[in-house]
Amino acid sequence: MSGKLVLVGTPIGNLGDLSPRAVEVLTVADLIACEDTRRTGRLLQLTGIPKTKLVTVNDHTEFDEIERLLGEVAAGRVVALVSDAGMPAISDPGERLVAAAADAGLQIDVVPGPTAMTSALVLSGLPSVRFCFEGFLPRKGRDRTERLAVVANEPRTTVLYEAPHRLVRTLTDLAEACGGGRKVAVARELTKMHEEMWRGTLDDAVVWAADHALGELVLVVAGASPAAAATDAELQAALSVELEAGATRRDAVDAVTEAFSVSRRHVYQLMLDL
Ligand code: SAM
Repeated sequence: MSGKLVLVGTPIGNLGDLSPRAVEVLTVADLIACEDTRRTGRLLQLTGIPKTKLVTVNDHTEFDEIERLLGEVAAGRVVALVSDAGMPAISDPGERLVAAAADAGLQIDVVPGPTAMTSALVLSGLPSVRFCFEGFLPRKGRDRTERLAVVANEPRTTVLYEAPHRLVRTLTDLAEACGGGRKVAVARELTKMHEEMWRGTLDDAVVWAADHALGELVLVVAGASPAAAATDAELQAALSVELEAGATRRDAVDAVTEAFSVSRRHVYQLMLDL
């Protein structure tokens, strides 16, 4: 093999998902760049590949290591890049290394492997013909509020990663932003012994998550219905119809939020502006 960078997918739980081609590439690679040498070392041990080829590339070192690794590729070596689990560069280090290799005109190959994102999507039962991936939402502040609003208005299915200790908070925020009736699927521990796929509405997911926030999790949120593209004027007209029919202001906000699958906060603001 002449010099190249090869992105290699590794299992997200079930070691049986390590492909023969992944083993082949990791065997012939001169260097294996990984996030954590102990974790990837265990994977290599199973396949009899020496751990001496491992070098650490994570969010802290990626920048410093890029030049060195690209130098190795340019000198004719094969550098494999893996992450702790799944596909490198998907909510994991790798993006900058690939971009720099592309800029340098170096050969880049991929050995496709498991990723939690598409595994959860195809299991969710939600539309998969068009979807988007948001990775982890920003943790707080305006960035988070703005991203939640983007998800709320996105007509395609959205896939999100989340840590267990933040699951209830994130589902609560999504219910607030999207309306609690929006469909969601939560994938837990994919390909592992306690794999579980929960499907329902965001409101019900908040209740479910109170005692299921364990392990590794992916959220798959249904896209906004076409009605969500309603203008503010249309939403206010719908609020007026509810009020004229005798609904309280609160019930009118609830009804319009539900009917249009839009943010309750936004409808509430429109009610105040009426
Ligand atoms: N590169 C990985 C991939 O291709 O899926 C993702 C790495 S990201 C740092 C880790 C997140 O992926 C976890 O917090 C979780 O949201 C998701 N994840 C990884 N493995 C998973 C699994 N077996 N089941 C459910 N979610 C998983």
